[in-house]
Amino acid sequence: MELVFASNNKHKLDEVKSVIGTMCTILSLSDIDCYDDIPEDKPDLQGNALQKAHYIYRKYHRNCFSDDTGMEVEALNGRPGVYSARYAGNQHSFEDNMNKVLQEMKDHTNRNACFRTVIALIMEGKEYLFEGRVDGIILYEKQGQQGFGYDPIFQPLGYDVSFAEMDMKEKNAISHRGRALEKLLYFLKAKNL
Ligand code: IMP
Repeated sequence: MELVFASNNKHKLDEVKSVIGTMCTILSLSDIDCYDDIPEDKPDLQGNALQKAHYIYRKYHRNCFSDDTGMEVEALNGRPGVYSARYAGNQHSFEDNMNKVLQEMKDHTNRNACFRTVIALIMEGKEYLFEGRVDGIILYEKQGQQGFGYDPIFQPLGYDVSFAEMDMKEKNAISHRGRALEKLLYFLKAKNL
């Protein structure tokens, strides 16, 4: 079975393929010649994930799923949350986003944070949602070179390394996206696809 994953983010694609790649063939947006700037303007993760997946299903008539992720920091009242991708502004990099969080956190001793992922699957026109979450803390400085996004400043609970110091398999085993993908995998297996 083929499933479109509504993303061209190579890190995410690798993570997705390593969890459900044996179950089905994962196609990226470029694999289906989609180069659109898919709207993602809903006020929450679930809304954005559904918006992206419905866009692809409507336009390409293919079963597909998308994910939306946010990092929520307790001392920042849940920010950056749904604005994680563009926290430092629309054209800003992962580095800029991390620097903004580190700057805002410099006087806070409460370092608690979490990542949440919502996956929306549209299959034969029906929608299904899967969620994953991981708790952790915001480090005082960046650590590690692997992964992407906020990985260098996030240390999951029970570990003494950041996500960016883990290899993909270690991260997937405990991460927000890994956990949501496990639920998706379980669903696909139960459907016997
Ligand atoms: P997206 O909209 O799902 O791509 O996620 C929004 C933003 O959250 C991304 O641009 C990244 O900055 C961040 N993000 C998403 N997933 C991860 C992750 O696994 N680790 C670190 N940051 C992430």
